[in-house]
Parts: sequence; structure tokens; C-alpha cells
Amino acid sequence: MKIGIIGLGLIGGSLGLDLRLQGHQIMGISRQENVCKIALTKGVVTEASTEFKALAEAEIVIVCTPLGAIASTIKQLIPYISPETIITDVGSVKQPIVAECSQLWSNFIGGHPMAGTTESGIDAAVANLFAGAAYVFTPTAATKPENIAKLTAIALELQAVPHVCDAQIHDRAVSWISHLPVMVSASLIKACLTEEPDTLKLAQILASSGFRDTSRVGGGNAELGVMMAKYNQQELLRSLLQYRQNLDEIIALIQQENWQGLEQTLQITSAVRPKFLN
Ligand code: NAP
Repeated sequence: MKIGIIGLGLIGGSLGLDLRLQGHQIMGISRQENVCKIALTKGVVTEASTEFKALAEAEIVIVCTPLGAIASTIKQLIPYISPETIITDVGSVKQPIVAECSQLWSNFIGGHPMAGTTESGIDAAVANLFAGAAYVFTPTAATKPENIAKLTAIALELQAVPHVCDAQIHDRAVSWISHLPVMVSASLIKACLTEEPDTLKLAQILASSGFRDTSRVGGGNAELGVMMAKYNQQELLRSLLQYRQNLDEIIALIQQENWQGLEQTLQITSAVRPKFLN
């Protein structure tokens, strides 16, 4: 199949690597000539160009730009593609993207592969990034079932687990397990910086696996974090406020020396964590 990928960064580049291995012809579009060259050398794409007209024969185009550039990218692409072309995106928020892009292109289906790293750009592209991860598609009532079938087949080729749901429900769910953790992890790192310099230096020397795990998503791509907050503002605020309430409850248990209550809370979290990590 001829597949176009626009935006050859972490997600676009990683998709290209895996889909090429599946025998697809991958046409990559970057804004930068040097990224086109790197993508060809790295085996991310079959062909690379800075011009959208290179996607004239693509059956599927996957838009892998930051959230704020998805709709404008599709507007620039439309003059060059055939009406049957399926356009999908990989944005981390779905409701506002689907609302805008479905109006631009009737064969648009929102997508979100639930995998990533803290790196960005073409150099961060890796093979097998999506294996075992959920790949969400958010069709509307007007979406053709055969188009969903084509995209879920691609997700399966990536060894991802396709999941079809409503865009709004997606945004609420990912707020809890993706966007809230970024803000919690970032505030953890920032809180540590309030310590006086000598102790902070010692803490930095002593930091090990626990801090690595809890600070990972707060130490990632800042632009992506801002886009999550901007595009999923209501859901993120809802989960952040609930989180603050739970943190206050834990503070109260410790102030009251209610060790039994604290143990009960930690037993619940210990028991329930595996349900999030299937
Ligand atoms: P990234 O590594 O920064 O890649 C994005 C690429 O988009 C850039 O390398 C650039 O490619 C292009 N781009 C940047 N700004 C642009 C603009 N203003 N207009 C047009 N193109 C632009 O970021 P990423 O992590 O791959 O994220 C891409 C998308 O994947 C985002 O929508 C994000 O929400 C979603 N996502 C990210 C993750 C994650 O964990 N990182 C996970 C799932 C989904 P060129 O230089 O080649 O033009």
C-alpha cells in the first residue's frame, strides 16, 4: 500500500520504520531537506519530499505533526490528493481535532497510538515502538466502516492493539493515564528544586530507579505537554483537581499520624495498579 507520513519526528519516523518492514511504500513529507535525507538514510521512508504533491497517489496519509499543526497541514494537503484518500492523525487529543478535520475531509479518522518516549525529532524514531500498545481510532457517525477496517489492519501490522471509541471518551480516559501523569511528574521535579542547594545536590546524586520512573514523563517534550493541556484543558483540569483532593487526603492522614488509614490507601493503590498495566 502507498502510505504518506507527514512530520518525520518520533511518531512519524517510528511508524515509517515499522510500516516499511511490512512492505508498504512510505512517502515521507518533512519541512526540512536534511530531515528528508536522514529519513532516507535511516530507512524510515521509501521516498521523501518537502512538497505535499508527492502524496498524490497515497491511499492513506498519516499526519504526525504537533496538535496545533494538524488541521492546517490537512488544508495544505487537500489540493493534491484524491477524494478516496484516508487521512488519519496521531494527535494525543481527539475531540477538537476530529471536530475540525472531519469538516475538512470526509475520509478523516482520528487516531492515537498510545506509545512514545521522552525524545523528539527524526533521530528519536525507533522500530517496534507500537508493539503491544493500544492504537485508538475515533470515528464519527459518518465514518465508512471499510476505512476503519483499513486503519485497524495497519495497527495490527504494527503489533499494536486497535481500539475504537468516541473522541470525547478517549480525551477523558487519556487525561487520567497520560496527561495528568505528565503534570504530576513535572510538579514533582519542580517541587524538588525548592530545596536548598547542598541538599538538592545530594538528592540529585542519590536519585535512582524510583525517581527515574516517577519523573520520566515530566522530563519529556515540553511542547507536547503544553499541547495536551491546551487541547484537553477541561478534562485535564477535572483530573488535576481530583488529584489535588487525593493528595490533600494523604497529607491529612500523615498529619494525623493515621498510619492505618495510610496503609489502607497504599494497599488499595498497590492492588489496583496492575489493572492499568495489562
Ligand atoms: P516530534 O518528534 O516533535 O515530531 C513532530 C514532527 O512534526 C517534527 O519532527 C516536524 O517534522 C513536524 N512539525 C513540527 N512542527 C510543525 C509545524 N508547525 N507544522 C508542520 N509540521 C511540524 O513529535 P512527536 O512526539 O512525534 O509528536 C507528533 C504527534 O504525535 C503529536 O500530535 C503528538 O500529540 C502525537 N503523539 C505523541 C506521543 C509521544 O509520546 N511523543 C505519543 C502519541 C502521540 P519535520 O521537521 O519533518 O517537518
